[in-house]
Amino acid sequence: MTDTSWNHPLALKLLKKASTRSAPEAIAVEAEALLDRFKGSSAQGCENSQPLHTPVEALLSYLGVGLEDGPMPPGVSGRLIRRKGGKYRVYRRADEHYYRRRFTLAHEIGHLILPRAVGGLSLRDLRDSESLLFEEEQLCDLFASALLMPEDKIRPFLRDFRSDPAASLKKIVRNFKVTLWAAARRVAIITKSKVLFWDEIPNPRKKDSLVAQRIKYAFPNTPMLFPWYVPPYCTAKSGRFSPNLVMQSFERERSECGRMQIEDLGALPNGEYESECAFFCKWSPGLVEEFLQDRRRYFFNMATFLRPTSPFL
Ligand SMILES: [Zn+2]
Repeated sequence: MTDTSWNHPLALKLLKKASTRSAPEAIAVEAEALLDRFKGSSAQGCENSQPLHTPVEALLSYLGVGLEDGPMPPGVSGRLIRRKGGKYRVYRRADEHYYRRRFTLAHEIGHLILPRAVGGLSLRDLRDSESLLFEEEQLCDLFASALLMPEDKIRPFLRDFRSDPAASLKKIVRNFKVTLWAAARRVAIITKSKVLFWDEIPNPRKKDSLVAQRIKYAFPNTPMLFPWYVPPYCTAKSGRFSPNLVMQSFERERSECGRMQIEDLGALPNGEYESECAFFCKWSPGLVEEFLQDRRRYFFNMATFLRPTSPFL
């Protein structure tokens, strides 16, 4: 049986503090508390005139933490370093899209705030968590999402989600200054969905694999947040989805929503799912979409949100 619970001491303490079994909920409480403290400290006049996006750089400086944008080792976007005298500083990769860098900063704030929120971690906690660092990274990603896109501010953007999910996501991107990728993951958490990110590619793990509409990433793909794993590079072949709203959406180049029967998709139980296929655009060389990073690695042409219609699934 798959272990679907958190093991990191930080996660266990956050869940206990918030009296919940949901890490996103426990973490949202901390993100909102921090935003409230920050708002109280800056007392910036009329609430309604405030922009929706969280001013992460100002928030960092409110916390007394320095920031330096510059080069970083490959694969690293940011780091929180404790310096002599106990002062913290965030080093952040300079050559990424600004929206992505905002997420990096919010994630590093998570590394600082979450341990403080539970009264600190003991040496024993730190030793116990050595092999669970991936859990801590996930907690900080959840924190960054909640800090940049608080649920009460996101909800109004989801009112028309079922009629045009792509348009709703793009509005979130613009208003909250986040990447499309981050916006889709936040919506998946709030709507308790699994989101599949598609791209027309060969399977890089197989020789002579055909170019097809394939899953590039699935989120959440950790049992603590969503119990069923979906591997990358599954195709949208017929028989797997019926009616095949994924292919319809891709071929018609527009978002399709509705119920689908799903069979043989990773560990997802066969059955009926509510779905929203948010279609963005097909890849072409030189494509620089306003809302997408122009690097092929981060590109996806569609995001499909899935929720089982039966609670027994
Ligand atoms: Zn991290």
